[in-house]
Amino acid sequence: MSEIVVIGAGVVGLTSAVALQEAGYPVRVVAAERPEQTTSAAAGALWYPFEVGPPDAVNRWARATREWLLQLSRNTPEAGVDVLTARECVADARRPWWADSVDGLRLIEGPQPSGGRLAWEFEAPRVEPALHLRWLESRLSRPIEIARVDRTDDVPGDLVVNCTGIGARRLTGDTTLHALLGQTVLVEPGEVDLGKMYGDERDLSAMLYVIPRRTEVVLGGCALPFDGDVLPPPDPALRAAFLERARAAGFRHGRVLRDAVGLRPVRPEVRVEREERVIHHYGHGGAGYTLAWGSAGDVVALARG
Ligand SMILES: Cc1cc2nc3c(=O)[nH]c(=O)nc-3n(C[C@H](O)[C@H](O)[C@H](O)COP(=O)(O)OP(=O)(O)OC[C@H]3O[C@@H](n4cnc5c(N)ncnc54)[C@H](O)[C@@H]3O)c2cc1C
Repeated sequence: MSEIVVIGAGVVGLTSAVALQEAGYPVRVVAAERPEQTTSAAAGALWYPFEVGPPDAVNRWARATREWLLQLSRNTPEAGVDVLTARECVADARRPWWADSVDGLRLIEGPQPSGGRLAWEFEAPRVEPALHLRWLESRLSRPIEIARVDRTDDVPGDLVVNCTGIGARRLTGDTTLHALLGQTVLVEPGEVDLGKMYGDERDLSAMLYVIPRRTEVVLGGCALPFDGDVLPPPDPALRAAFLERARAAGFRHGRVLRDAVGLRPVRPEVRVEREERVIHHYGHGGAGYTLAWGSAGDVVALARG
């Protein structure tokens, strides 16, 4: 069986590597940074299609990933997946574009914490990035090799899978790929209900999300166009804005723990495409955790050729 080299150790690279291994391929993972230093480590990370396309493929990948994450939540606690009741505040009652990827979507009418009067409610897997990335890494048959790749031609192996996130802009010269900066603040739970997620993205310049984890809560967030691929430090003004929005919506959280920042790799369409011996697999926008298992299934199909 052909040896496959996966470039990238974020959620997309590690999930691809695990899926390819399960399909019987010998796999090596090469990455410039370890999983805990990636954008994937900074994610929320709720199952929810955000800033990503195209709709048909996203719905297919999101549904498959959701099923996989739901199974992990039942059988594999160390994978860091739990199911929350998610409520997304919306401006009108139109069915969301991602409605086909989830069963049991229900419209809630009445006052919402952040001021609206309508919301969609659904059961959503929530991933703890630190636990999940560690669990994915533990399933690899070989340790991750730390090295920067400048040209895919230089990478040995019968097939190369390019899962470099925003790094693909430099590696492939893809000018349709751009970064959307995200920042969050992690807090102690205080009185926040750890079983419920709340989000309001009606105004992207003042969005609010509250994503509980097992022992902390993620407050966010933002989606700001960003030039370049060097991560900036957390912005204290953004942190203050997130805390104020959460307070105004009535979330009585505890002490501030830390900030998280990452660059979402956004493209008009996620790229899952084979070019001779290179399979490109990047551009998952704000939905890497929402799509990774589903789109990795397409990578396996492309590897089989
Ligand atoms: C604040 C925030 C909140 C988010 N919330 C959610 C959420 O709730 N749900 C959700 O589904 N998604 C969420 N996302 C989006 C999600 O984090 C991304 O879609 C996902 O992390 C992309 O994963 P990736 O593996 O493609 O890229 P990355 O995590 O960036 O990993 C890229 C890997 O490639 C390596 N690499 C890059 N260039 C090279 C090179 N030249 N040579 C070798 N290695 C290279 C890097 O070192 C790294 O290992 C959020 C993002 C942010 C920033």
